[in-house]
Amino acid sequence: MRFQLDAPLRCAPLKRGVRRIDMDPETRRKLKKAGKAEIERQSSELHAQLEESNPADIGDPQWAANYREVTLKEKEYKKNRSRVYPASEVGVELLLNPVNIDWSRGYLPVQGYYLQCKSCGDLVPMNPVVKLTCSCEAIAISSNIGEISFEPHMVVATKLIAKASHGQTKQKKWWQFW
Ligand SMILES: [Zn+2]
Repeated sequence: MRFQLDAPLRCAPLKRGVRRIDMDPETRRKLKKAGKAEIERQSSELHAQLEESNPADIGDPQWAANYREVTLKEKEYKKNRSRVYPASEVGVELLLNPVNIDWSRGYLPVQGYYLQCKSCGDLVPMNPVVKLTCSCEAIAISSNIGEISFEPHMVVATKLIAKASHGQTKQKKWWQFW
């Protein structure tokens, strides 16, 4: 399926009074457990990303410097509506924090969210003020919601986590030398 809109999409109001689905306690318990496991998996992944974002020890003066740098960079990432971040910055300048998007609801741009192209790896902001494309042009997003083109299975929607430039200043502890 190719995501191509001819007419501007309107944001549908969220459905109210969604009927509760009856299910047996066993199914409910299983679903609850699966949901909990998934949340735990996601939060441990996020925890690892955050560790990598600022690897200094919290008592280290470098930690505070990193924190400032990361906060400023993330502000930029959230504000950015005119720049594509190249794949080469992933893992160096920034890390990904993927989000789930239900494309069946249409294209609802979220400020600060990016689409990463699965072929070239570039990151295109979801809500640009100009027309932006990734370098292989599989993703083309314009400020006009009617000119949006990409294959949903070829993109990963993600938020960006900034990576501090002075990561590893951590001194090895004495017991780590041998
Ligand atoms: Zn691409």
